[in-house]
Amino acid sequence: MYHRVGAEAVDPWNLCVSPERFEQQIELLARRRAAVDLGAFAGEGVADRTGSKLAVTFDDAYRDNLEVALPILERHGVPATFFVISDALGRTREFWWDALCRAVLESDAVPTALEITLGGRNHWFTINDDSATTRAATRWIADREDPRTGRERLYMDLWNAIVLLPPAEQDVAVDAILLWAGMPLAGPESRRPATREQIAALAGHPLVRIGNHTRNHPSLPDHDAARQRDEIAGCQRALEDLVGGPIDRMSYPFGRNNAASGHIIAELGIPVACTSYPAAVTRATPRHQLPRMQVLDQDGDRFARWLRDDHALLEGKA
Ligand SMILES: [Zn+2]
Repeated sequence: MYHRVGAEAVDPWNLCVSPERFEQQIELLARRRAAVDLGAFAGEGVADRTGSKLAVTFDDAYRDNLEVALPILERHGVPATFFVISDALGRTREFWWDALCRAVLESDAVPTALEITLGGRNHWFTINDDSATTRAATRWIADREDPRTGRERLYMDLWNAIVLLPPAEQDVAVDAILLWAGMPLAGPESRRPATREQIAALAGHPLVRIGNHTRNHPSLPDHDAARQRDEIAGCQRALEDLVGGPIDRMSYPFGRNNAASGHIIAELGIPVACTSYPAAVTRATPRHQLPRMQVLDQDGDRFARWLRDDHALLEGKA
C-alpha cells in the first residue's frame, strides 16, 4: 500500500516514499518477477507464498501517482491499482488531513488556544507546553506513537473530530484552523488529487487498474448503510462512467469497514476490497477484507529485507 511518491518534511502518517526509493522498490519487484495485479487476489492460487504474488496499490489518487509513480511503473513493467476518491478528482485544494497537518504541525508558531465549531458544537482546545512556539525537532508518526507535545495532541484531537464531519464541514473546519495558524488557505499543488482527465486517460492502460475509494473518503463504519451505499455506489458509477468499463476493486477509506460495507460491496459485485490491516493474504482471508502492508520510505535493500525477513514474502537472496 502506497499513498504518495514524493517528499515531505512532516509526514505523520508515513504517506510519502521518495521517487528514488520508490524506483528501487519497484525495480526489485520487477527483477524478482514478484508483482501481480490485485485482481489475482480474487482467485484461490494467491496464498501459497511462492514469492511471486505482491500487488501494488495506491490510495487517494494524488497527482504524483500519475506524474511521478506511473513513469517508474512503466519503466519496470509493474502493474498497480489506483484507488480513486471520485468527488475529489480535480479538486484544487488539499485533502483535509493534509491541510490540518500544514496548519498544526508545519506552521512555525500557533496561538496557545483554539475555539472552533465542529459538527455544530463549540470546542475549546489549549496547548499547555512550549510546542505552540517551538516546532518538534524530530518526526512524529501518528499511528505508531502517542502525541509527544501539546501541538501533536491538538492535531490528533482535531483529526478525530474532523474525520466524522460531512465533507463540506471538513473544508470549513480546516480553513478556520489554517487561518488560526496564520497559514495560507491554498496548499502546495503537489498535494492535490489527480484530475478527471488524468484518470480517464488511464482507461485501457496495460499496467493500471482504477479502484473505488468512495466519493468523499468517509470513515464508513461511522455512517448508516444508506450513507455508505451513496458513498460506495456513487463512486462506482462515477468511475465506471469515467473509464468506460467495470470497476472490480475497492479500498476502504482509512481501512475502516463494517458488515454494512461488506454487504454493499457484495451487492455491487465488487470481488475484492482492501483494508489497511498489516498482514499477508492467506487462503482463509475473506476477499472483502484483504489486508495490506504500508510500504515505508526505505531503500531497495531494506525493502527486500522487510519483505523477505519480516514477512516471508520474497524467497531466496534479496
Ligand atoms: Zn485513502
